[in-house]
Amino acid sequence: MIKRRKLKGAAHIHTSVSYDGVMSVEEISSFFRGKKFDFVLITEHSENVSNNELNKLISECKRFSSSEFLIIPGLEFSCRDNLHILGFGINKTLESDDPLEVIHHIRQQQGVAVLAHPTKKNYALDRIWIEELDGAEIWNLAYDGKFLPQVKSIRMFKKLAEQNPDLKPFGGMDLHQEKNYYDIALRIEPKNLNQNQILKDLKEGNFTVESRFFKKKPGIRINWVSLLIIFAFREVLNLVRKMRDLSSVR
Ligand SMILES: [Zn+2]
Ligand SMILES: [Zn+2]
Repeated sequence: MIKRRKLKGAAHIHTSVSYDGVMSVEEISSFFRGKKFDFVLITEHSENVSNNELNKLISECKRFSSSEFLIIPGLEFSCRDNLHILGFGINKTLESDDPLEVIHHIRQQQGVAVLAHPTKKNYALDRIWIEELDGAEIWNLAYDGKFLPQVKSIRMFKKLAEQNPDLKPFGGMDLHQEKNYYDIALRIEPKNLNQNQILKDLKEGNFTVESRFFKKKPGIRINWVSLLIIFAFREVLNLVRKMRDLSSVR
């Protein structure tokens, strides 16, 4: 039997449509093709993005996609209390900062609703909208750093999953420019490379979050042994960084 090749995706990517992004869709396309990715999930900050600009983004994503490489447009909605919710595969904006309304808006368009960097602030997490989410980031490169996620992010995910047992763990780059890249991928085995199929696989949790030292399948619990290993690794990393910083001051 021939085993289908797993597709590699980059999630939570900002282009210059976001006020703090610098790369054009074309640059994002050639950068991630060069890194051997098969698809990219764009999430522009919803502030200052009109429906017009979103439509432009959608056509740019189509223009730089092909049968081998897919760019899926989306938004990162800013809600009250500094809460950010990713909407993958979105084609309409929404003027609301209510998390429940935002999640419903995303899901009405068959988009995927994912809570971004849940540990950024100590959010006042109220149950109602958490139960409506498709997923939450267990690892956000911009907030957690390279190599491994933070233990507090994994703990936070577990806490959220107690309220929503269907919650899927996502990995996101939160990439705004090339130099912040690190290889955190969503791996899927879809029947074919098209937007609906990929969004469906993400919604259903048919994917893993993979990086060189990390692999997380949805539904499989993270036990305290792996938490301890991750904690130990991070301590070693911090030590190495400290030593490197010390040697550079001489
Ligand atoms: Zn954010
Ligand atoms: Zn972001």
